[in-house]
Amino acid sequence: LFGAREMKILMLGLDNAGKTTILYKLKLNKIKTSAPTVGFNVETVSYRNVKFNMWDVGGQERLRPLWRHYFPATTALIFVIDSQDKDRIKEAKEELYGIISEKEMENVVLLVWANKQDLKGALKPQEVSDYLQLGQNLKNQLWCVVGSNALTGQGLVEGLSWISNNTS
Ligand code: GDP
Repeated sequence: LFGAREMKILMLGLDNAGKTTILYKLKLNKIKTSAPTVGFNVETVSYRNVKFNMWDVGGQERLRPLWRHYFPATTALIFVIDSQDKDRIKEAKEELYGIISEKEMENVVLLVWANKQDLKGALKPQEVSDYLQLGQNLKNQLWCVVGSNALTGQGLVEGLSWISNNTS
């Protein structure tokens, strides 16, 4: 999928969005969970030449400065959304913008997985896309919203392929 290129991908989202389930479904090998001294729990996993770092975002203002350590050299940001959780989509949006407005993130490509598409009442990818207003706000960045179901794996390869096809 990603050829021989080395790539760093950051996968973030609120807790319960489905990040861990996605990693399991992709059969990624866990390399490590960070030492508690880092201040937040970072999972690092590899998929061939691609290294994923992931953690939960949301309500952790004081931890923000620590995240920057993981930003440099990131090729792609994946943001996972629980499409059924309408109570927290506003929070998810705020967290997403907090991250992509960081200087080091200005050249990353952004994939949003509108996850849990199988659940009744889940926002469709287009609705998630409209809500996030990425078209209006991201002028110089490539972005894409892909629907997913982490339980079956639907949409996962499609999302990773989009990243692969949109990075050099
Ligand atoms: P994380 O906190 O972002 O790592 O979220 P988890 O991967 O732990 O998932 C949170 C819960 O949502 C778990 O009970 C998962 O089984 C469930 N879940 C994750 N993805 C999906 C999905 O696409 N559809 C459904 N129905 N449940 C999902």
